[in-house]
Amino acid sequence: MHEMSIAQSLLDVIKEEMRKHNATELKSVLVHIGQLSAIVPESLSFCFEIMTSGTELEGATLNMEVIPLTGNCRKCGQSFEIKDYAFECPYCSGTDIETLSGQELSIVEMEVE
Ligand SMILES: [Zn+2]
Repeated sequence: MHEMSIAQSLLDVIKEEMRKHNATELKSVLVHIGQLSAIVPESLSFCFEIMTSGTELEGATLNMEVIPLTGNCRKCGQSFEIKDYAFECPYCSGTDIETLSGQELSIVEMEVE
């Protein structure tokens, strides 16, 4: 399950951040998940729960926001949301699309104590 390794790397970052800020308790964390990252939020949440259970991070809430896939057409310069992974410009039908968002996986906010 690919979410397991993602949860692991998220936890590594979280622990590192907590160390830096001398925080001992994680209340919640907000993560941005790009649509293109192919992460299933439910699976990630499930993995997160399993991996934090019994650790000092137990009980922390994982909040996720899915970031839509958007692109910019290199031909006509328009930006738009890419639906159904159709990498084609809705304005000029160009296929030279630069991805603007939707690939990210980042921790946006952490609530600690
Ligand atoms: Zn275009």
